Amino acid sequence: MDCDLLITGDLLIDPLSGFKGRGQIAISNKRIVAFEPDATSWNARQVLDTTGQIVCPGLVDLHVHAYEWVTNFGLPADDAGIHSGATTIVDQGSAGAWTVGGFKGHIADHAKTDVRSFVSANLAGALQGGMEGTTLHSPEMTRVDEIVRVANQYPDFVKGIKSHAESGGLSHWGTTVLEMALAAANQADLPIYVHTGELFPVNEATRPATETVLKEAVSLLRPGDTLAHVYSAMPDGIMGQSQSIPASVFQALEKGIHFDIGYGLNFSYAIASRMLEAGILPHTISSDVHADFNSYHDDNKLDYSLCGVMTRLWGLGMSLQDVIARTTYHPAQLLREENEIGTLAVGSRADITILNLEHGPWTLSDGQAETLSVNQRLIPAWVIRAGELIEPNRRLLRDVCHSPLTSGTG
Ligand SMILES: [Zn+2]
Repeated sequence: MDCDLLITGDLLIDPLSGFKGRGQIAISNKRIVAFEPDATSWNARQVLDTTGQIVCPGLVDLHVHAYEWVTNFGLPADDAGIHSGATTIVDQGSAGAWTVGGFKGHIADHAKTDVRSFVSANLAGALQGGMEGTTLHSPEMTRVDEIVRVANQYPDFVKGIKSHAESGGLSHWGTTVLEMALAAANQADLPIYVHTGELFPVNEATRPATETVLKEAVSLLRPGDTLAHVYSAMPDGIMGQSQSIPASVFQALEKGIHFDIGYGLNFSYAIASRMLEAGILPHTISSDVHADFNSYHDDNKLDYSLCGVMTRLWGLGMSLQDVIARTTYHPAQLLREENEIGTLAVGSRADITILNLEHGPWTLSDGQAETLSVNQRLIPAWVIRAGELIEPNRRLLRDVCHSPLTSGTG
């Protein structure tokens, strides 16, 4: 039989089927046409031997910022996407209803990466990171009907709504904006993704008690909605500064609320370890990669990546299969596209990531300057995007690729 591309390898991992082992994948016309453990003979136009590497569904990074130039902190979409090993990226709230058409037309439609949007609850989007939050993200700047309009206008692109549950917003307008976002989510039949951890300027006179922030969010969110930054060290975040896990965390999980890593600036190894010890795994693993909040279009200081986060969570004790499921099949389910992406199933789109598995040791730091020693790291060697074989430039993979780590000693 003929195919365009045949990938052979000794470690294929597909979370949906539970497959882990030697096998091969045949691709034709941008689709997976065979995924089989035995070496059936194919007449392939191109063959990729991945012996010693890991072949998995194309990584889906559920939290990036890629509205370059319009937001001050947007990254080039393909650098955050295919060039970092992710075939699909989801921008979390950089665009709002009034700016999402531009994000699609000027960025997403020109990217090789599959780019999607969780549209911000406010009309303009997050133009300046967390800054001007009380102006930009206020109830006056939020309109339910406009969110619903763009959700209906771009059903394959707008896949959810981004909102916030943090001390700044709560101190100014309580849960008003979150409730408007939820009203829109109900009307548009979309999931909502909620930032946690202090972000907007706080009105100190009405600052909420830290432990009430999560409680308020959990009482409002619906099964299948997502809380972000779940291993963050922010005092008003999921775990707060508490040594024991707050009751609201268990209530959230019982309610079917999903937890996402959203690695970003405030991830803490100490909190991650405490949560993992208690068996609280994230449902999805995402990076929250973005350029500098305090300059314009400057990503020189970005020092974390999706593969870096996967490497860290693997190093903290999650299994490789769990890590891969949470960066492929689980986020694909959240996008309601698990038949198309996040899987190696026959018939799905040929979006595949091939990872180098390198042996260390290395030392990786988190946002709190805590360090973790890891013996293995994951680096994207190839991505296949709709059947096309692409070698990632890895420009933004400073945490797992560039100095001083490339010395092997860290
Ligand atoms: Zn973010």
